[in-house]
Amino acid sequence: MKLLVTGGAGYVGSVSAARMVEAGHEVVVVDDLSTGHADAVPDGARLVVGDIAELAGPLLADGFDGVLHCAAKSLVGESMQDPAKYWNGNVVTSLRLLEAMRDNATPRLVFSSTAAVYGEPEQVPITESASTRPTNTYGASKLAIDLAISSFSTAHGLGAVSLRYFNVAGAYGRYGERHTVETHLIPIVLQVASGQREQVQVYGDDWPTEDGTCVRDYIHVLDLAEAHLRAMERARGGEHQIYNLGNGLGFSVEQVIQTCREVTGHPIPAAVAPRRTGDPAVLVASSERAQQELGWKPDHPELSSMVRTAWEFLGATAEA
Ligand code: UDP
Repeated sequence: MKLLVTGGAGYVGSVSAARMVEAGHEVVVVDDLSTGHADAVPDGARLVVGDIAELAGPLLADGFDGVLHCAAKSLVGESMQDPAKYWNGNVVTSLRLLEAMRDNATPRLVFSSTAAVYGEPEQVPITESASTRPTNTYGASKLAIDLAISSFSTAHGLGAVSLRYFNVAGAYGRYGERHTVETHLIPIVLQVASGQREQVQVYGDDWPTEDGTCVRDYIHVLDLAEAHLRAMERARGGEHQIYNLGNGLGFSVEQVIQTCREVTGHPIPAAVAPRRTGDPAVLVASSERAQQELGWKPDHPELSSMVRTAWEFLGATAEA
């Protein structure tokens, strides 16, 4: 297939684009490089730099079989402080993309959504039928896009799949996570291991969980890329399918830090800090539907494999 990957210079986008190239697809990446890196675009994919809302039309006029839409603003804290950036950057850009797909009769869309659309869960693991009540602008903007996709599917026959997941981790060779402002747990803990930070702060140890620290669903970026690839192959005209992706297991903050200690051989000092606003105690997704309908299951569910590949990626990045 000839595929357009938006945000293919970012973390999830670059790994997915790399797997799509390896699976024999022709891949064009469009990315404004606001948070992505040109050197993360896989060999064999063409990079077009610029505004996706403007470029989608001219690019898709060339005739594509599908779009993988990964480009997004994705910082929860920032989304609360600067909502316009999220309504414009996520919702308006995606609407322009959908219009360009409609105008050029592009048949397939895979959307990299988020489990943040569900908000505080009433039940874990979270299934696709859980109510969608996002607690931040980031999640709300992604939910708005999902709703727009559904209506384009119904009206124009688009075959679409949205994938909703929580914490992505790990790396795939030279493709990994590189954020200028780091807020995520695993990269922060590895920064302590590599001497870039003194210690990690544990946001609360009095949560109603086994060891008192928050539990999250970490999924290997390579497993996620595999799901994107399968979704592209299985998209069906006129349908908008929604799948939650998860590891099946949750890991606590304490378990993450301990695994990082084991993998890196570094003591990694940790200190308990106050709870972070907006954090629920446990977030775990049910990926039963994805297993049944996409035939997908995580091949790398172990935390140690996520931490090891991320650690190797950091070492390789530091040497480069
Ligand atoms: N966390 C922490 N210290 C940090 C960063 C994160 O204790 O320096 C905790 C956070 O409260 C949450 C978990 O680690 O329970 C994962 O947070 P992250 O920001 O990586 O992802 P989120 O689950 O918020 O999407």
